[in-house]
Amino acid sequence: MRVLVLSDIHSNLEALEACLDTASYDIVVNLGDIVGYGASPNEVIKRSRKIGKYFVRGNHDRAACGLTDVTEFNPVAAMAAMWTRQQLTEENLIWLRKLPQGPLRIKELPDTEFVHGSPLDEDEYLIDGRDAVGPLSVSPVAVTFFGHTHLQGAFYRGSGLDDETLRPQYRNTRGPETLELSLKADARYLLNPGSIGQPRDGDWRAGFVIYDSDARVAEFHRVPYDVEKAQRRILDAALPERLAQRLAVGR
Ligand code: ZN
Repeated sequence: MRVLVLSDIHSNLEALEACLDTASYDIVVNLGDIVGYGASPNEVIKRSRKIGKYFVRGNHDRAACGLTDVTEFNPVAAMAAMWTRQQLTEENLIWLRKLPQGPLRIKELPDTEFVHGSPLDEDEYLIDGRDAVGPLSVSPVAVTFFGHTHLQGAFYRGSGLDDETLRPQYRNTRGPETLELSLKADARYLLNPGSIGQPRDGDWRAGFVIYDSDARVAEFHRVPYDVEKAQRRILDAALPERLAQRLAVGR
């Protein structure tokens, strides 16, 4: 089965559409932060619900629907969360409030789970190899997909307890690119598809993973999208300018 794993769309409809235009998949799993920062929250929720039924909630989803307040957010993120709350339809607010907390398991995919931040804490950031030691040590499954950091890549541990980190290195940041990682049978993996709508690894292109669960291959993808259109929507909505600027540099 080909599983499209999406994370951190952040109300960026143009980036989501570019991903869906190129990806071929059987099912979709969404790791949360569907909304927040970008200017198309209702459109992105509609599109996301149309393509799949598997979701975990992100911290921005919780803030936007009022499950948590925005005191932990920086001023720009807080402003965007409040703006999003005002824009969301009643139906979408209710839908966001019901999103499950991870880890999520899917019966067609044994030995695999899906979380927003970390399997131990939905709000924890797994940024480097040190952060991954705890989850890799206790994980009950071979493959865990996570998001939240907006950094595409993988952490894994082989049978010799040797930990490795993978950050995909692409040739450039212009066209669509793919990098394959074949999963070893005796290793544990934490896989981050990167962010669709607000990448922060210095690559502005939308990031996602297609996981071939039969071949046990994770394909990391980057696709260009109409970043100027997404920026224009943010500025037209009078959201903070910084949210538009950062999309072009992927930071
Ligand atoms: Zn996020």
